[in-house]
Amino acid sequence: MQPNKNIKEEVQEPKKKTSFRNFPMVPKVVFGCGSFSQLNSILLPQRKHAEAPFIFLVDDVFENTALLNEIPLIFNDQIILISADQEPKTQQVDALVQQIKSTFSEMPSGIVGIGGGTVLDLSKAVSILLNNTGSAADYQGWDLVTKPAIYHVGIPTISGTGAEVSRTTVLLGPKMKLGINSDYTTFDQVVLDPDLTKGVAIDQWFFTGMDCFIHCIESLKGTFLNTFSQSYGEKALDLCKEVFLEDLSPSESREKLMMASWHGGMSIAYSQVGVAHALSYGLSYVLGVKHGIGNCLVFDHLEEFYPEGVALFQEMKAKHNIVLPKNICAKLTHEEFDTMINVAMGMKPLWENALGDDWQKIITPTKLKSIYQKI
Ligand code: NAD
Ligand code: ZN
Repeated sequence: MQPNKNIKEEVQEPKKKTSFRNFPMVPKVVFGCGSFSQLNSILLPQRKHAEAPFIFLVDDVFENTALLNEIPLIFNDQIILISADQEPKTQQVDALVQQIKSTFSEMPSGIVGIGGGTVLDLSKAVSILLNNTGSAADYQGWDLVTKPAIYHVGIPTISGTGAEVSRTTVLLGPKMKLGINSDYTTFDQVVLDPDLTKGVAIDQWFFTGMDCFIHCIESLKGTFLNTFSQSYGEKALDLCKEVFLEDLSPSESREKLMMASWHGGMSIAYSQVGVAHALSYGLSYVLGVKHGIGNCLVFDHLEEFYPEGVALFQEMKAKHNIVLPKNICAKLTHEEFDTMINVAMGMKPLWENALGDDWQKIITPTKLKSIYQKI
């Protein structure tokens, strides 16, 4: 009798996972230079009635620019300008929700966020809190939101964070910096118009772009990696290499970075970030360092964990003459170091992804302090 080859293969097959992440994706997306001009026709079918406005949360970098005039305002729609000087806070979300509720008698038809990760995250959070009681801080965590958000649209004006595709909105709360991770967080519609990123300053372009590059490295080198994440992560990494190491035309570079951001965000949706993000969260919490530059400051010193990624990062940094600030942690007190280390150590899933279940054998407070002291 022939040995049954299938039986052998079945026996040898690794134990299958019993629970798989089931996450939402952005259901509608439009891509292309000039696609912003389609916003009016995109919003029209979503307008509930004349008294239910669209609220446009717009980065105040666009104040007095042509973009504001291109926003399709009808009826009692309102533009609220938002400063992106600081990362979004839970109190800021609560204040915006209060402002909208007290200005309008009807629930808005929707929220449209136009800006970088800061404004996109605020927009997601405001759309959730308009339909859920309490404070934004009550929903920081995983799957705590009980009612759907109101219709919300994301329109990125700088590329890299992946906030346009993710199911989280990262907020600084009274106790922690943590996302509202929920199926209701994801945008209903995204407009990807690379022309909107034209005015970004070179340093900021690099820092936010490196957020995407670091998402790819951390996802692709992580233990959580599966073929789904890998397929997005590899594409995003290739696009980042083209954008930051080759000499593309400005328009090609803008288009490719916008799609790198999207794919990078999709890659971490099914895996996780790693060492740089854990340490960057600590920096941000104690010193208010913004996400993109914080990741760069940390990643520069992570050759032990990501040797090839760090070598590429340094090549990119040199090509674009980026000079990172130094001695950021020089004046920190022992207590501040401890807080920073505690915040970083608390990012358990990130360490598990980066280093596996035994991560605590490698990552100790002393180890983290030695890295922070180099920054
Ligand atoms: P940002 O939104 O903070 O903006 C950075 C700077 O660029 C600001 O000064 C802004 O005014 C300016 N800017 C934006 N668009 C511009 C344009 N077209 N022209 C000129 N200037 C422009 O930057 P970011 O790096 O995109 O976002 C960082 C935020 O994103 C952080 O709060 C971080 O926590 C969050 N984030 C969220 C996710 C997520 O999945 N939700 C992922 C990563 C990061
Ligand atoms: Zn990031």
